[in-house]
Amino acid sequence: MKLYRIKKSNIDKKGRGLYATKDIKEGTKIINYVGKVITKKQTEVSEKFDNSKPIYLFNLNSRYDLDGDVPWNTARLINHSCSNNCDYMGKGLKLWVTAIKDIKKGEELTCDYGFGFDVDYKQFPCKCRSKNCVGYIVREGSRWRINKKFKKSQRINR
Ligand SMILES: [Zn+2]
Repeated sequence: MKLYRIKKSNIDKKGRGLYATKDIKEGTKIINYVGKVITKKQTEVSEKFDNSKPIYLFNLNSRYDLDGDVPWNTARLINHSCSNNCDYMGKGLKLWVTAIKDIKKGEELTCDYGFGFDVDYKQFPCKCRSKNCVGYIVREGSRWRINKKFKKSQRINR
């Protein structure tokens, strides 16, 4: 039995998300994050990654990226949350999504999209509505730049 199912998202009202089909223990691999392995060169010249944040683009190593923006990559449906319960893990050219806390059956699976802070951050509002929500999709270590509330705990991580 799969650990997830696809359903209308509570976070992205217009989109879909993945939900836990049973209680999941911290550390469990939930789903592989698949896509096309492309070279850095291809990333550089591709218009696809020009104007928008590369939400589905992962750095695998110094030579290769993974483009997860393909229809067969179910894990791309996972939404960003400021209190994410999953994270992307990788080894070699493989990526997967792992639970970083215990997840209850029926909870929506969420990740930290890992966007760095830049001047355009307002283009990407976050609607996760968690207690920690900073209002925009910015990775945990950069949230203090937007909201002073995060300053103390996050400054060391940058
Ligand atoms: Zn949020």
